[in-house]
Amino acid sequence: YDDRDGKIWMDGTLVDWRSAQVHVLTHALHYASSVFEGERCYNGKIFKSRQHSERLHYSASCLDFEIPYSVDEIEAAKTAVLEANGFTDAYVRAFAWRGAGEDMGVSSARNPVRVAIAAWAWGNYYGDAKMKGAKLDISKWKRPSPETIPVHAKAAGLYMICTTSKHAAEAKGCSDALFMDYRGYVAEATGANIFFVKDGEVHTPLPDCFLNGLTRQTVIEMLKERNIVVHERHIMPEEMEGFQQCWLTGTAAEVTPVGQIGDYTFEVGAMTREISEAYEKLVRS
Ligand code: PMP
Repeated sequence: YDDRDGKIWMDGTLVDWRSAQVHVLTHALHYASSVFEGERCYNGKIFKSRQHSERLHYSASCLDFEIPYSVDEIEAAKTAVLEANGFTDAYVRAFAWRGAGEDMGVSSARNPVRVAIAAWAWGNYYGDAKMKGAKLDISKWKRPSPETIPVHAKAAGLYMICTTSKHAAEAKGCSDALFMDYRGYVAEATGANIFFVKDGEVHTPLPDCFLNGLTRQTVIEMLKERNIVVHERHIMPEEMEGFQQCWLTGTAAEVTPVGQIGDYTFEVGAMTREISEAYEKLVRS
């Protein structure tokens, strides 16, 4: 991704894509002092743009740093990146981190906060799974307790187990991995939240130790508007035996049907298709 034409916004200015570089002694590279957002622009407008910028600020605060640009300034910068690259439909990655500076140790208080925003074209996150239903592996790693790490921050450190779980899943021919949490309840995938359908009602894990995704919140609103009962609760993995449909939600994943998790199978049913299509319509409206 480093060798291409285009512009990236970095610390207040647009720079050439190939020049958007950092020093090897960047604190974030050694100690994961980094937070990020994944957003999608549809027809020239980023869906829930402001909420993403606010979450970026919130995530930074969880890691003890303040983003030196207001939410309004981040909003303007995202627009500038999209315009400079001529995008009306794109994935937008806004991120902030502790750079190289005075110190090179665990404490980063004297290192500068850096901010960048890039955008690129990104189609279906799970490829043709959008039609057929994705196949998920069950990760050997567990989502950690909120007492061990700030679980609601979208912070790089939390993605270490996502990357390794996704590698293991891909090696088995799966699109992604599903995590249980530290108590054994069903949690989320490596970059998406999960929903199940049983007898016309929806069940989704309570986001008490993972990201309460903006797409998750949107989909819950959409279900409630349709008078569909939504149970946000702790779900045991064995319960998947009795669930008939399943889908994932996320900015990149949008609403992607799931056909299989481990040995459990699901149909790509009417409710899954309806919500997936309605979400697509909503983000483009
Ligand atoms: N969980 C994780 C771990 C994620 O990376 C994402 C993607 N940001 C989500 C859930 C879904 O969040 P959102 O709907 O806000 O994109």
